[in-house]
Amino acid sequence: MNMSQPLVRGMPDTALDRARQIHRIKALLKKEDAVLVAHYYTDADLQALAEETGGYVSDSLDMARFGHDHPASTLVVAGVRFMGETAKILNPEKRVLMPTLDATCSLDEGCSAREFIPYCDAHPDRTVVVYANTSAEVKARADWVVTSSIAMQVVRHLTAQGQKILWAPDRHLGDYVRRETGADMLIWQGSCVVHEEFRREALLELKRRHPHADVLAHPESPASVLAEADMVGSTSAMIEAARTRTARSFIVATDHGILYKMRQAAPDKEFLEAPTGGHGATCKSCAHCPWMAMNSLTTLEQVLRHGKPEITIPEPVRAAALQSVERMLAFAADQRKPVLGLGNT
Ligand code: SF4
Repeated sequence: MNMSQPLVRGMPDTALDRARQIHRIKALLKKEDAVLVAHYYTDADLQALAEETGGYVSDSLDMARFGHDHPASTLVVAGVRFMGETAKILNPEKRVLMPTLDATCSLDEGCSAREFIPYCDAHPDRTVVVYANTSAEVKARADWVVTSSIAMQVVRHLTAQGQKILWAPDRHLGDYVRRETGADMLIWQGSCVVHEEFRREALLELKRRHPHADVLAHPESPASVLAEADMVGSTSAMIEAARTRTARSFIVATDHGILYKMRQAAPDKEFLEAPTGGHGATCKSCAHCPWMAMNSLTTLEQVLRHGKPEITIPEPVRAAALQSVERMLAFAADQRKPVLGLGNT
């Protein structure tokens, strides 16, 4: 196709530019022997492009596992930095590119290895369990890495063995697991800037206006919001709930990027974003991760064109982090949980 010619007669310039850009990205993916894996929270444009080009849309661990099984020598990870690192931990032989390494995560940022390692050292009697939303260095110090869908089972398993737990970094997810399991957990006080903004009072008001809607909530949300939910679960579990529950309408308490996959899974159902900020907020927050939003068609084209930024991890750190990730994978296999579909953010 001659890209100097309009693709569709009468197409507006912006739509035409976008179509041309998508065309160039598709060609670059082929040229670079690359596959695009995108997180549920990225923009719909990127999720659609991943699907159209034989890539994949999922949670971070599942993205890494897809990349491992795919024959492409380059993985392009649209998401936040710890997701690119997880992909590299599981795929050291592949080149892992990201549209930007500035896309981080408040959970990762709030739990630096510099502070976390001495904290662990100060509690040698505790088994260290960290959420997937952490740096490679933090994973390397942990005994276990968990996702939100398997956290409960891992903590129950460790508790049954008489182990006490040091949990990091998300305090809401940690509190939720502690309430559900009764485990002895020392909890790091990190939080997600997106989920922390959901407000119970505004949610109740929305529920009053939509009395037949089910509330689906991610466990990184505050306890007061989880208490009003009909279902609490990982991103993958939330999409599955949207598909299988009998309700025709849902209020969704997680990043609104997930609505792309929910609408795909249940096209005849209605999805409403859970309210953020509430009446008392000084500024209006939105249910969209500012770092996920740094992934765009433009940054994607740039990384494919220039081959950077690329994720690199010192081998001793990667090898140590792999052990704690593999412990979870082996546990999941023992539980006969399907590894695909393990969810986190
Ligand atoms: S939505 Fe929250 S947990 Fe997910 S990447 Fe953004 S800040 Fe981190």
